Amino acid sequence: MERWRQQLQNSVTKAREISQRFGVPLEDILELEKQFNIKITPYYLSLIKEKDDPIYKQVIPDKLELVDTGLFEDPLAEDKDSPVNNIVHRYPDRCLFLISHVCASYCRFCTRKRKVGDPTKISTKFIDEGLNYISQHPEIRDVILSGGDPLLLGDHQLEYVLQKLRRIEHVEIIRIGTRVPCFLPHRITSGLVRILKKYHPLYINVHFNHPDELTPIAVRALGRLANAGIPLGNQTVLLKGVNDNPSVMKKLMQKLLQARVRPYYIYQADMVFGTEHFRTNVEKGLEIIQALRGWTSGLAVPHFVIDAPGGGGKIPLLPQYIMKISDEEVILRNYSGKIYRYRQPESNGPLRIEEILETEGQELTIEEA
Ligand SMILES: *Cc1c(COP(=O)(O)O)cnc(C)c1O
Ligand code: SF4
Repeated sequence: MERWRQQLQNSVTKAREISQRFGVPLEDILELEKQFNIKITPYYLSLIKEKDDPIYKQVIPDKLELVDTGLFEDPLAEDKDSPVNNIVHRYPDRCLFLISHVCASYCRFCTRKRKVGDPTKISTKFIDEGLNYISQHPEIRDVILSGGDPLLLGDHQLEYVLQKLRRIEHVEIIRIGTRVPCFLPHRITSGLVRILKKYHPLYINVHFNHPDELTPIAVRALGRLANAGIPLGNQTVLLKGVNDNPSVMKKLMQKLLQARVRPYYIYQADMVFGTEHFRTNVEKGLEIIQALRGWTSGLAVPHFVIDAPGGGGKIPLLPQYIMKISDEEVILRNYSGKIYRYRQPESNGPLRIEEILETEGQELTIEEA
């Protein structure tokens, strides 16, 4: 049997095993086994150094998941934007196509908890229906394969989908969203890579949340994908007790770049039922962006977004860099807090001495208002 299948077969899936291994009272988590699948690959489990560390928190169930704080089953209202099974079509020119219900391990904070792990909710039966929908919608130029995790399909099944999509003329790019390089890097076999590289332009977005996840074996898997010419992006979820810390995030972004992955999004945690204990204030994300921009490579700075509850889509948030904007000028704050003036085109005001100095390449500093 292939190594990745062995990993899946030997995954921890029972509350009882968790209880024995980590000394969690069984009665605290037994109910959770029914509510949202438990699964942790032996590989990912081996990254846990101690109870409650950032790796542990992401995948080990916690009784806090049972606390009802009025959050939602489907916070992004995806089901409302689902014209046919397995498709979420919200934006004008692109759609999500859910092609797998399983993941290599289950994230306790998953936005799609209501569906993921349940074959009746995301069924491969509907793949042809989804392909059909895409082929009948010429405005769709970008298809994002998601799930569950698309890379947990067998090679043949995945190739079937890729091949069919490539035959649709208006589909310009294909994207795959996957957490496999993080949970199960063994899945990135040379056979899989050979299939993927036949379907360019193909982009992959991976999902790493903590620098400790970028192990040598994960980095090698990412390198194999990059060597196949696949541009790699990363999506991180901002999670309390996991990565709600500017220096942890900076290290994560820098390690991703070393592994040839370009940070793409940091998500504010969605308002998913049973995940209140993972949520941070929105200011925390702004603080993280402020700590990255200017202080490290621009390539290491992702967009910080809130996926708007109710289906508004992703909304970018930035720290305040514009202090004032008028027809004449813009007053700006740089990364380290210094203030600069930029004169608008066609504004009649005289060039001030500071501005002349600035055009000569010198720094302009004005009084903070
Ligand atoms: C995130 C998402 C996309 C892709 O958004 P990009 O900003 O283009 O990466 C597309 N459709 C849905 C429903 C999404 O949630
Ligand atoms: S890998 Fe993605 S879809 Fe799967 S459980 Fe984690 S967040 Fe959810």
